[in-house]
Amino acid sequence: MNKIIIAIDGHSSCGKSTMAKQLAQQLNYIYVDTGAMYRCVTLYAINNGMFSGKSLDSDALEQRIGEVKISFTRDEAGQLCAMLNGKNVEKEIRGMSVSERVSMVAKQPFVRKMLVEQQQRMGQDKGIVMDGRDIGTTVFPDAELKIFVTASAEVRAERRYKELLDKGENANYEDILANVKERDYMDSHRAVSPLRMADDAVLLDNSYMTIEEQNQWLLAKVNETLSKDCPDD
Ligand code: C5P
Repeated sequence: MNKIIIAIDGHSSCGKSTMAKQLAQQLNYIYVDTGAMYRCVTLYAINNGMFSGKSLDSDALEQRIGEVKISFTRDEAGQLCAMLNGKNVEKEIRGMSVSERVSMVAKQPFVRKMLVEQQQRMGQDKGIVMDGRDIGTTVFPDAELKIFVTASAEVRAERRYKELLDKGENANYEDILANVKERDYMDSHRAVSPLRMADDAVLLDNSYMTIEEQNQWLLAKVNETLSKDCPDD
């Protein structure tokens, strides 16, 4: 059966990674969390003193962007982990310090250029589920299946809040809600590849869906696409 590219875009914290990961596993496809890549660059900038508060010295980052090497590995439990210059940074990149600064890094054209090229190489053989903000519009404008996910800001903040608490981390619901709204705004209003739904994407509002309902919905879309794409298979 032909392999396809599945692009999953949408707002912050609406469960894109969870659904994309599960789908990739069921299809035996590669899964790429592009948000983790922007988060890794952000962590690099923080660790190298390129932030003063929330303001970024973008010239300093641009000069050293070639030093940022991002890869993915699996830990002992089989979970995918982001690696920054050979170090597992999965936990660090999910914290509020990175979340509060990542949209500032993600709007830099030189950062996007580097990461988009890397993402396109990862998908050159298809058989990939990639989630992010610009996958269906910029990274793979010809993806066979594009999903745009959304849910209300309150529902998303609540989910993120529970996720952090479950991991035993400090979390404040109001701070998370403010961060979700701020990232929505910055991601949708930046000059380069702003977050928007591709004209040929299918909308999924999962505010009131369980993970299982959502997975069934996605599998139905995949099957529809595969039968359109290769009717003889
Ligand atoms: O998906 P996640 O919330 O981890 O992404 C973190 C941030 O990375 C987003 O808020 C956005 O600023 C940026 N991002 C992006 N383009 C992508 C993926 C993420 O700009 N393809």
